Amino acid sequence: MSKKITVTDTILRDAHQSLLATRMRLEDMLPICDKLDQVGYWSLEVWGGATFDSCVRFLKEDPWERLRQLKAALPNTRLQMLLRGQNLLGYRHYSDDVVRAFVAKAAVNGIDVFRIFDAMNDVRNLRVSIEAVKAAGKHAQGTICYTTSPVHTIDAFVSQAKAMAAMGVDSIAIKDMAGLLTPYATGELVKALKAELSLPVFIHSHDTAGVASMCQLKAIENGADNIDTAISSLAWGTSHPGTESMVAALRGTPYDTGLDLELIQEIGLYFYAVRKKYHQFESDFTGVDTRVQVNQVPGGMISNLANQLKEQGALNRMNEVLEEIPRVRADLGYPPLVTPTSQIVGTQAFFNVLAGERYKTITNEVKLYLQGRYGKAAGEINEELRRQAIGNEEVIDVRPADLIKPELDKLRGEIGSLAKSEEDVLTYAMFPDIGRKFLEERAAGTLTPEVLLPIPEAGGVKTAPGEGVPTEFVVDVHGESYRVDITGVGVKTDGKRHFYLSIDGMPEEVVFEPLNEFVAGAGNKRKSASAPGDVSTTMPGNIVEVLVLEGDKVKAGQAVLITEAMKMETEVQAPIAGTVKAIHVAKGDRVNPGEVLVEIV
Ligand code: MN
Repeated sequence: MSKKITVTDTILRDAHQSLLATRMRLEDMLPICDKLDQVGYWSLEVWGGATFDSCVRFLKEDPWERLRQLKAALPNTRLQMLLRGQNLLGYRHYSDDVVRAFVAKAAVNGIDVFRIFDAMNDVRNLRVSIEAVKAAGKHAQGTICYTTSPVHTIDAFVSQAKAMAAMGVDSIAIKDMAGLLTPYATGELVKALKAELSLPVFIHSHDTAGVASMCQLKAIENGADNIDTAISSLAWGTSHPGTESMVAALRGTPYDTGLDLELIQEIGLYFYAVRKKYHQFESDFTGVDTRVQVNQVPGGMISNLANQLKEQGALNRMNEVLEEIPRVRADLGYPPLVTPTSQIVGTQAFFNVLAGERYKTITNEVKLYLQGRYGKAAGEINEELRRQAIGNEEVIDVRPADLIKPELDKLRGEIGSLAKSEEDVLTYAMFPDIGRKFLEERAAGTLTPEVLLPIPEAGGVKTAPGEGVPTEFVVDVHGESYRVDITGVGVKTDGKRHFYLSIDGMPEEVVFEPLNEFVAGAGNKRKSASAPGDVSTTMPGNIVEVLVLEGDKVKAGQAVLITEAMKMETEVQAPIAGTVKAIHVAKGDRVNPGEVLVEIV
């Protein structure tokens, strides 16, 4: 049996979303579009997922303009997007009129293929977007979010696929967002789908656990029609199998993709250079991570939890949280772990462990979930938990968006003249805060993308762009040396700027207040404390108040200054009884440990 396998390349969407925090800019896509357009892909995934958010939040690119320019640069290739069903590209359920307007505009601006999923695999949440895609005359792909649980059987996935087929989808995608699939499980699932349906089957699997290319091969042998790959310089690890590798693997077989390997290799070299430009967004760990095959928790979710635990000073409780996640998931009827259910389950597990008692604190999202506001779970909900969480409040059994009134006009009114088009209204609808801010900055002509750090030269000292300022330091704190490396500079918001640092190789995020607050009084060269009556602090900080005057008599232990550090105020006391001989600080001064601030004799 001979069957040409078609290819969707994710290089312009999921590849950099998975490896470079969704940061690739349009300016790095356009120069290679001519070559990408000649490859003969079935489609290029270019939009949706987190790209819309990243454009508006970090890159200060209009996502709709990105789509239009890509469409113009890729006239011969289908453009594909990932859409979260009734959530579109935002984080809540939208009213049907917003869903229809969004899909219509995405189609007009250039999307040909809509891959539509729901985090609960509740097909009711897919219906309106599928209808809208068909109304626009485009390809609707119904998606199975792959997960494992006692209720996620092959039969259950097949009946979900049949329900989507009945809604009119043109193809079925198996979306393995976490890298949970194994080769033989893939083969059986694909075989069952092909036996029961006459639709093309697409396979999307992340290589986190190092088995995705084997899964794709088994999918192909069992009748799959299309594989998702990424150009090799942004492939593997948490991304997808490399395009060149899969094309080479299938060449000369009945499944030959027919794609030009040399042309794809040229494109691979281009993205090899592009990847370096975004080095600051690479994760520390880029190899194979099989943990997901043990605890079912996606890699991205583990790093989010690690950050939350670190903030609470409870990183040592990670294993307890990882053990609690499957229990919470079982209580909630086994939702797949994908945006937003991964956050809902992960945060509740975090509270269950840190509060020392399960469900002592229940998040609002879990309450909404238990009311049916995200849709229907595949498994049984723990009824005891449901009653504890929501008491006698109503549990809905209709499609959640049935209870949402039309809201497009309201949104249009809210954003007013800042919106220059219907697309702008939809940008605001997706992200009310950052969307509004984006439109305001665009109107004021002040859109500024975050700073990309230059590629460090081997052995050289890193410097910030244009300024020649070093970005690598060795810092001594109480006799211990730390290597501090500024790895990224965030966008300034509310007068504060986010810096991404690594301290001895561990990533940290730091928020700085305006610099002048820190340099006030920096010219003061104070002498070092040595006499018994010298008053100094133990923490760097600012003087909030000076409580004494020269000539005052003070007791030992009496507060003479109030300082502030890390938003916490501290009293500084007189080390001995005596008279204030000199005061070397004033309110607002920046002070450092060991300096003489007040002299008492
Ligand atoms: Mn993906």
